[in-house]
Amino acid sequence: MRKHLIFIALVIVVSFASCNIKKPEKKLAQKKSPNIILMIGDGMGLSELSSTFYYGEGESNFLRFDEIGFINTSSADSKITDSAAGATSLASDTKTYNGAIGLDADSISTPTLVEVLSKINYNTALLATSSITHATPAAFYAHVKNRNMQNEIAEQMVNSDIDFFAAGGLKFFQNRQDGKNLMAALSDKGFVVNDTLNQNYNMDKKYAFLLADDGMPAILKGRGDFLPEYTQHAIDYLTASDKPFFMMVEGSQIDWGGHDMNADYLISEMLDFDKTVGVALDFAEKDGNTLLVVLGDHETGGFTLGADNGNYNKIKPVFSTTSHSATLIPVFAYGPGADNFKGIYQNSEIFNKIMMMAN
Ligand code: MG
Ligand code: ZN
Repeated sequence: MRKHLIFIALVIVVSFASCNIKKPEKKLAQKKSPNIILMIGDGMGLSELSSTFYYGEGESNFLRFDEIGFINTSSADSKITDSAAGATSLASDTKTYNGAIGLDADSISTPTLVEVLSKINYNTALLATSSITHATPAAFYAHVKNRNMQNEIAEQMVNSDIDFFAAGGLKFFQNRQDGKNLMAALSDKGFVVNDTLNQNYNMDKKYAFLLADDGMPAILKGRGDFLPEYTQHAIDYLTASDKPFFMMVEGSQIDWGGHDMNADYLISEMLDFDKTVGVALDFAEKDGNTLLVVLGDHETGGFTLGADNGNYNKIKPVFSTTSHSATLIPVFAYGPGADNFKGIYQNSEIFNKIMMMAN
């Protein structure tokens, strides 16, 4: 009898429990924060990018954008910015003095896109054709009073939130005068350094590619497809994760061609950057949830595509200065939130336009 009761009780419990099992509800597809790709042509003004229409083999990738704006790039202390203040104003929401990296005009540390987005679960990557410690990439992770402090900047890279980077700059990480071995420090922080590339990225690891002692070679000196190829590698690594990502890609040497007043140097770097924009756009179009913003930090060289001695059918690229200029700089945007980039505004507004989309 007793056994019987226990059996009945058991049946009741089991049937009650089974009634209580909820059917798994269909999960609402939660929209992921958009990926963000920011591409900076250092020294890329309107004439520089116009050169992709006259000297490129195929069609310029800039033709593929239809949301276009302009930024004023003046710094906090000068009508004409340098690349440190220019990049700081893109990476953070403030103007600063020429030479400053990641500090505002009062030398107070200002949060960068890499830092803010990492905190809200983004993976991050930086690519440049300069040293990774050079002004433009540095402004995304470092905070120093002067851009020349590249040894300090390298140490801050080791402790940064960056998950993937590719650029030059070995000499700031190894064989340093202070004896510090930052290559070992990178490994200690979970970086795989100068790995041979394959498609099997380990998302528990970070990846560092330091591929030249200082800046990468110029295109004219054999750099090849480093920038478009590593941009694709970074995309492959970042999309292997479920997290959204932020990536900054710099065509660093458009500026160096301008300072040298060397049109062949400038145009070859510009065409390489255009090709890299094509890689990022192909991905953004396919992905459908990636905001791509392409701009310059300032113009270099007062570069123009003038008529050669009155011959309106022949372009003669000319320079008016070995320095930067104050010309407004075009901004191209594609993807979610791209229309926020229309209009004429300050370079320091880019940060908030990006952050509006990332939450
Ligand atoms: Mg630069
Ligand atoms: Zn410059």
